[in-house]
Amino acid sequence: MMPESLPCLRCKTPMEPGFIADATYGGNVQEKWAAGAAENSAWWGTLKTKGKELYPVSTLRCPKCGYLESYARGGPGL
Ligand SMILES: [Zn+2]
Repeated sequence: MMPESLPCLRCKTPMEPGFIADATYGGNVQEKWAAGAAENSAWWGTLKTKGKELYPVSTLRCPKCGYLESYARGGPGL
């Protein structure tokens, strides 16, 4: 779910909806939010996410000053 267009908190310019592209093996995925501290897996060296609820993160960007504002709305596991 994309947040509605909101004015920038810094300069009041209407912000553009978007998302942070996280580089992963073979491409990019949408950034996700998880509760608690980040913890690395001993076997893979990647972050442990098993059993955690992951929320896709939408990020608004101000085209004038570059300020970013993120929202982790919607259901987990997307
Ligand atoms: Zn701004």
